[in-house]
Amino acid sequence: DPRIHDIKTRIRVVPNFPKPGIMFQDITTLLLNPKAFKDTIDLFVERYKGKNISVVAGIEARGFIFGPPIALAIGAKFVPLRKPRKLPGEVISEKYILEYGRDCLEMHVGAVKSGERALVVDDLIATGGTLCAAMNLLGKPVSC
Ligand code: 5GP
Repeated sequence: DPRIHDIKTRIRVVPNFPKPGIMFQDITTLLLNPKAFKDTIDLFVERYKGKNISVVAGIEARGFIFGPPIALAIGAKFVPLRKPRKLPGEVISEKYILEYGRDCLEMHVGAVKSGERALVVDDLIATGGTLCAAMNLLGKPVSC
C-alpha cells in the first residue's frame, strides 16, 4: 500500500532521545500532515471496521491521539488506559516492567463489559511490554 511508505517518511527519527542510544520515533511530524494522519487512521479503520469491535482502548498518551478517530469511524466506544492516579473513579490496575524501570496502567471499573471485543491502540511497540499490560488489564475479571 503506497500510503504506508508515505506515512513512514513523515515520522521523524530523533537520535539519542530521551536517552543516549535511543532512536526515538517522533509521530508529531506525521500529525503535521493532514493527509498522512488521515491515511494512518483510514488504514486501521479499513482493517477493523465490521469486525464486531465495540471498544477502542487507547494507551496514554499517544494512544489518545490515534484511538478516538478510529473509535468514531468504526462505531466503538473509546476507553482511556491511563497512568496511575489520573482517573477519578474506581480503577483496576496492571503493573509492568519497562526497559528502564516500572510503570502501571489503569482503567475505570465498568468501562468494558464481559465478552466485549477490544482494539488496543498506541503509537509504537518497542518491547511490547506496554501492549501486553494493556491486554492483561482488559482481560482482568474485575473489568467484567
Ligand atoms: P514498549 O512497552 O513496547 O517497550 O514501548 C512502547 C511504549 O513506549 C509506547 O507507549 C510508546 O508510546 C513508547 N515509546 C517507546 N519508544 C518510543 C519511540 O521511539 N517513539 C514513540 N513515539 N514512543 C515510544
